[in-house]
Amino acid sequence: MKENEYTRQCPDCSKEFIAQRADQLFCCSKCRYDFHNRIARGKRKKVTLIDRILHRNREVLGELFIKTKPPMVSQQELLNAGFDFGFHTHTLLSKDSQQKCYYIYEYGILKEADGKFKILQDEKLQGA
Ligand SMILES: [Zn+2]
Repeated sequence: MKENEYTRQCPDCSKEFIAQRADQLFCCSKCRYDFHNRIARGKRKKVTLIDRILHRNREVLGELFIKTKPPMVSQQELLNAGFDFGFHTHTLLSKDSQQKCYYIYEYGILKEADGKFKILQDEKLQGA
């Protein structure tokens, strides 16, 4: 073995190989690409899953905001429409600063004293 050779195990294919440089981690460029692509694909999959839920939530609020006058709905109506209370994009305080409003992009919900939810539209995001 030459001085500049290092025995390594490829993190992609698990094959033992002799690295030609101290910083060589993979046995070949295909393994390096495959390894990093697999990680990137896994990240994209998680993001896609959450994006899908957020887009569905936005769609539900957008439809109910237009259909319901005034825009007040029960928790069950939201659930029946496919709304997932576990996902939102940001929070803002209500006008009286007493409650947190949960927003999904430009639409938000505010729980009223009677248990119903008021659907809000963030004016700052209008025409943006
Ligand atoms: Zn390999």
